[in-house]
Amino acid sequence: MTTSKFEPERFRSPAYLATIDSEAAPGQIHISESSMTSLFQQAETGYPLEICGLLIGSINNGNWRVNDIRPVANLNTDRAADRFLLDPAGYQAIDRELRATGNEIIGVYHSHPDCPAKPSPTDLDSAWEGFAYPIISVCEGKATEILCWSVNAENNRFQNVQIVKTV
Ligand SMILES: [Zn+2]
Repeated sequence: MTTSKFEPERFRSPAYLATIDSEAAPGQIHISESSMTSLFQQAETGYPLEICGLLIGSINNGNWRVNDIRPVANLNTDRAADRFLLDPAGYQAIDRELRATGNEIIGVYHSHPDCPAKPSPTDLDSAWEGFAYPIISVCEGKATEILCWSVNAENNRFQNVQIVKTV
């Protein structure tokens, strides 16, 4: 795993290190080049604030397939530089819209302005089992890295999910 140029001290603290499992996730995430570009653009446009949104697609044999990405408002205005709170109304509207389409919400992405693409203890607290959590690192306004995470079977740490780019 590569590390970002911007890594505040807290990312090396026991609490942060404890959020990451040494084992990689069993599944992979398949995401198109254009969705990837769009994630990077959103993260850069939102800088220096955190942006967040939903991954739309399907899950087969523990692998996530992203068919679309949808930005959702970050309701955390107090600490929008380092926390995100996905607008529940935005979530529900998209969830309703997807009914009977064959697609569903399969994960939540967010950006880490001037921080590595590694999860924080807060990210772990808010993570749901079965969801994929891509994190985009944006350093000085430039998206530099994306890493994806999912919670392990014990639901107490994140495992790194291999990202497979599709066309
Ligand atoms: Zn985070």
